[in-house]
Amino acid sequence: MLEDNGGKTGYTIPEVAEILNCSSKTVRRYINNGKLISTRLEGKYGDYHLIPEIPSSLVLPKEKTGICEACREERPLVRHHWFDIEGHYYSKEVCRRCNALLIPQNFPGEKEGRKDILPSWEKQLKYIHGLKPVPVLDIMAMLESIIAKLDILIEKQTLH
Ligand SMILES: [Zn+2]
Repeated sequence: MLEDNGGKTGYTIPEVAEILNCSSKTVRRYINNGKLISTRLEGKYGDYHLIPEIPSSLVLPKEKTGICEACREERPLVRHHWFDIEGHYYSKEVCRRCNALLIPQNFPGEKEGRKDILPSWEKQLKYIHGLKPVPVLDIMAMLESIIAKLDILIEKQTLH
């Protein structure tokens, strides 16, 4: 919650985006189409919007959580859409991570013709399940080597 010089209170666009779990771009769209009322104020770094209140109608449609159809983890779900090579449409409810991974770029050779062409759901599942999580041990080893390098740098600095 910010307070401007005139004593007005409200939320900035990034704050509203955080609360509504959407992008700043979406918040700007809500302002442009009148779903959100904002006051334009002059700030140190230029004009900015201050939104006095967020209508509950915008807050209510919360993200639906459930079991992702791809990774089987319980997460907020989005709808994943795609077409097969013949143009048939498919959709599944998946988490954001899986949705971001199930893109034509990750299935080379299947993207001829039109956009959003993906292989069969079985192949997509195979891809998701085939992704190896980075082992914790590797991360620890990486951190240790970084710390060792930092120690050397610090030592050099103190010698000067
Ligand atoms: Zn998933």
